[in-house]
Amino acid sequence: SVIERIEDVEQNIGAYIHLDFDAALRQAEDVDRHIAEGCELPLLGGLPIAIKDNMCTEGVTTTCASRILANFVPPYDATVVRRLKERQAVILGKLNMDEFAMGSSTETSAFKKTKNPWDTDRVPGGSSGGSAAAVAADEAFFTLGSDTGGSIRQPASLCGVVGMKPTYGAVSRYGLVAFASSLDQIGPLTKDVKDCAMVLNAIVGHDPYDATSVSRSYSDYTSALVDDVKGIKIGVPKEFFGQGINEEVKSAVIKAIELFKEMGADYEETSLPYTDHALSAYYLIASAEASSNLGRYDGVKYGYRAAQYDDMIDMYKKTRSEGFGSEVKRRIMLGTYALSSGYYDAYYLKALKVRTLITRDFQRAFEKYDVLVVPTSPTTAFKIGERMDNPMEMYLSDVCTVPVNIAGLPAISIPCGLDSRGLPIGLQIIGKAFDEETILRVAYAFE
Ligand code: GLN
Repeated sequence: SVIERIEDVEQNIGAYIHLDFDAALRQAEDVDRHIAEGCELPLLGGLPIAIKDNMCTEGVTTTCASRILANFVPPYDATVVRRLKERQAVILGKLNMDEFAMGSSTETSAFKKTKNPWDTDRVPGGSSGGSAAAVAADEAFFTLGSDTGGSIRQPASLCGVVGMKPTYGAVSRYGLVAFASSLDQIGPLTKDVKDCAMVLNAIVGHDPYDATSVSRSYSDYTSALVDDVKGIKIGVPKEFFGQGINEEVKSAVIKAIELFKEMGADYEETSLPYTDHALSAYYLIASAEASSNLGRYDGVKYGYRAAQYDDMIDMYKKTRSEGFGSEVKRRIMLGTYALSSGYYDAYYLKALKVRTLITRDFQRAFEKYDVLVVPTSPTTAFKIGERMDNPMEMYLSDVCTVPVNIAGLPAISIPCGLDSRGLPIGLQIIGKAFDEETILRVAYAFE
């Protein structure tokens, strides 16, 4: 039925970069055989799902929506993919995204534009726009996305689905094509909070292949779904409700907070004073790390190589000029500049100091509160093309999500109503490091 659904709607949505129904049906037959043999099916067994195209899939192209990786077929699975395969989830294909996950609208993809299923003149958000649109349009039961500065939560918000960025270190990044390694995290996009808890159960855990993966015990997240928020202390940081946040978004989130109070939680306005600097720090740190990580695309080891060149340097130059899109080039230039001697102290080092201040803001808040509740995105879905000639305006889409990555914290986005155009609004719940449970508990009670 999901294949039929994809055949019906995919030409209008464009969520997928790669679809392979034959491979999916083969996986489904394996599941059938497993059942016929009397074996018990793991929890996600047989569910048709899809993966953002920046996670390695053995034998299946992994392009990052970039010309430079258009022909890249990884010889191994990312740890998250392996874990889902072990649970016999059926992988339908790979999902569209902003090139190298740089963007907030999925428009920087080298291959196609993905449309928002709620209004196909609008963007699905980004960079995991394909992941969010596929779930919203019923083209997959759930999907995986990656979140460096909001790329799971913002598209989830714009497409009216649930999206969670786990604590940094909770989910292995092995096999995730690196954008900004100190910020990147993989997480689920799902139809509801319960699905989110179940997928999270499958993907979290220590992985010796990722040196930043944290070895600790991870609980069963479904046990957090108790439908009760009595005694929960909610902080409402005023910096997330200021200028630039759409009035309808603000009032939907405030209404949700009132509802939590009616259900027995307590809330209080608070302040995270360094929030205003989060976006500047993020774009310096993320671009600096990206400029270093993307140095590997030199046309030698894998991916695209220019057809004609004079010598080695010319080959590098032409390969990278032809292979990368303009947003990726902008980040590489910005990052290289910020890391260069003479500017390192003024930009990169300063940004790292601001990162510490932002982290401390959150630590102080979490001495008092169990969760923070804020909007996910300052606006609902915007028109395709609307922000493409203005990178600053595009970067502002992330103002409510980047502080969370900077501090390495977990956060979820859940739908909390529609605006006057009928477009979904997202509510963001931010928690303490490794306290995904409380986030899920609060989110589930709201749903
Ligand atoms: N939109 C942000 C950026 O362009 C965040 C992207 C992401 O989380 N991958 O960097």
